[in-house]
Amino acid sequence: MYGIDLSGKHALVMGVANHRSLSWAIAQSLAKAGARLCLTSAGERLRSMVEELAVTIPGTLVLDCDVTKDDTIDAVAKRLGDEWGSIEVLVHGIAFARKEDLEGEFVATPREGFQMALDVSAYSLINVTNRMRPLLEKNGAAIVTLSYLAAERAVPSYNVMGSAKAVLEQSVRQLAYELGPKNIRINALSAGPVSTLAARGIHGFTDMLKKHAEKAPLKRNITKEEVGKAALFLLSDLGSGVTGEVLYVDAGYHIMGW
Ligand code: NAP
Repeated sequence: MYGIDLSGKHALVMGVANHRSLSWAIAQSLAKAGARLCLTSAGERLRSMVEELAVTIPGTLVLDCDVTKDDTIDAVAKRLGDEWGSIEVLVHGIAFARKEDLEGEFVATPREGFQMALDVSAYSLINVTNRMRPLLEKNGAAIVTLSYLAAERAVPSYNVMGSAKAVLEQSVRQLAYELGPKNIRINALSAGPVSTLAARGIHGFTDMLKKHAEKAPLKRNITKEEVGKAALFLLSDLGSGVTGEVLYVDAGYHIMGW
């Protein structure tokens, strides 16, 4: 795809819930470039959906992984160690906050809601990277996680997820520093709003889409395929000199000052 050849590379893609997922768009880009894929599913509920998508890309593995449970992360590492021996590409497209913590006042966020959002949406990047480390270090690797502008700006209703994204982006920089000597690159893609299962949990999301399109220099919203293309750049040799970066795929929205 676009002259990018990822054949012989193993890509672990976490965070595919259905065909709308940003991680699925990235998985499709990686597959078109020739990468071998493993998709993880957070549990029984969506497993059949993920399996239906996986069969469209022959040879794709589907494994269970709930990032709040270390044993399920370790089971993925063990299976991929046995089956592949190395991981060259890791996609982290995972986030979660309780509905009530995205609706009320941010100032009233309860401790358990804060901890849950930070655990699933930010700590999971550190923990998964650490538990996959022997496989990532084998041949060197590229990692991409998905962020949003609420990491650095106040966005109505984004509440605790903004805090989680701020921690996520700082973790990208710290991991990039620490893992660079092992030839592991890590970057974040800060995507504009796209209608997905997780996005629909944000109160007023439809209005947000409209406002983004009006204000963005490109005068439109982005597509998930554009996220897939930008991720392919960061995850392939085209991005070989880039690490610790946040790349905005938001039709330019973040540059605006009004
Ligand atoms: P999505 O399709 O709903 O993907 C979110 C994924 O997170 C789902 O696959 C979900 O699995 C997974 N997840 C939640 N809790 C988990 C857990 N404990 N263990 C493992 N996986 C878990 O929505 P998306 O919009 O593509 O989100 C992907 C990433 O993009 C998120 O980090 C999101 O914040 C970010 N992002 C999205 C937008 C947007 O507008 N859509 C913009 C910027 C950034 P289950 O559904 O099985 O729980």
